[in-house]
Amino acid sequence: VVVCAMFAPPAAVDGPSAPPASMFDSMPGYEGTVAGGGGGFLPPPMPAGPVPQPESAPQMPDWNIPSITEETAREALILYASSKCCYSSAPAKDGVITNMEAFNTYRYRLETFTESRSTEWNHEPYVGQPVDAFAQPPPGPWDISVQIPNFFLNAKDTIKVPYTSSVKPCHGCVGMGRKPCNDCAGAGNKVCWVCNGSGFRHGDDRCHHCSGRGRENCNHCNGQGSRQCDVCRGKQQLLVYINLTINWANNSDDYVVEQLSGLQVANLSKVSGKELYRDSQYLVYPLMGFPDPSVVQASQRLVSEHQGRFSQTSRILQQRQTIELIPVTKVTYLWKGKSNVYFVYGNEFKVDAENYPATCCCSVM
Ligand SMILES: [Zn+2]
Ligand SMILES: [Zn+2]
Ligand SMILES: [Zn+2]
Repeated sequence: VVVCAMFAPPAAVDGPSAPPASMFDSMPGYEGTVAGGGGGFLPPPMPAGPVPQPESAPQMPDWNIPSITEETAREALILYASSKCCYSSAPAKDGVITNMEAFNTYRYRLETFTESRSTEWNHEPYVGQPVDAFAQPPPGPWDISVQIPNFFLNAKDTIKVPYTSSVKPCHGCVGMGRKPCNDCAGAGNKVCWVCNGSGFRHGDDRCHHCSGRGRENCNHCNGQGSRQCDVCRGKQQLLVYINLTINWANNSDDYVVEQLSGLQVANLSKVSGKELYRDSQYLVYPLMGFPDPSVVQASQRLVSEHQGRFSQTSRILQQRQTIELIPVTKVTYLWKGKSNVYFVYGNEFKVDAENYPATCCCSVM
């Protein structure tokens, strides 16, 4: 009895394998940098000069509370009913408005625009890029100057740290540029799948697929038994360098003064209001003198929270605080002898009418 067993080599993982730590030189100022994402987060250095103190808050404007007219309230409801496929517009058109009550509210928002930096070792196939490791010490991660994008918009940038690039043999192929083919174990051919290696089909018919050889060419490596290394893309050498990733993030928190109209506060996050106040500077000073004390408290709490939370892990570049007045009107109207309620809110006159009385055009009203 002949037992033919073909032992496959240990399954090699396709794709870039993790490079060994010995591939990375020691770079002054970058000792904690590792390969791959996750590590390498860099707290900002203490500022060299004195931290600029926030200026005092600008003067509060005078405010008048706008209220909407009956006509606006009615048009908003008609538009709302027409946007729902089976809402009849009759209640919106023929209902008699009996009461309009303003429950306007304030939204305080604090935004803190931050920059954070992290580093990681990276590599790419070497095709003659500049090699500059050890020509001079690399600049510190926070000393590398970059173009700051627009304030209050999230953005990301990645740059090669100068003086960290060197050339190393590829760890994926031990500098060969090619790796044995996994599919044929390096043989270049494998057992014919049609005749299962016998060379014949149905007794004496020669197998047409392999012309009777019993084996067929491996189409993963075109019969060569090896494939190009995908780490160095066949170049045998890698450029190894440190990448600096810079993240700009706008961190925003809201406080909305509770209003007792019955409208859910979550609705208000979808609308804008009338901006009453805007203050933007490097570090803002908590709000003072605003008529609603809960807004003043929210400002004190959020300013202190943001400065504590973000100054440890990132560099604060700018802060902005705004107050919006969000109009909320509760409208009561009579239709077919029954009283109903809806809300009109925001600059957009958005409508919330949970119990709209004619929600199906097919029923007899
Ligand atoms: Zn192969
Ligand atoms: Zn065959
Ligand atoms: Zn390689």
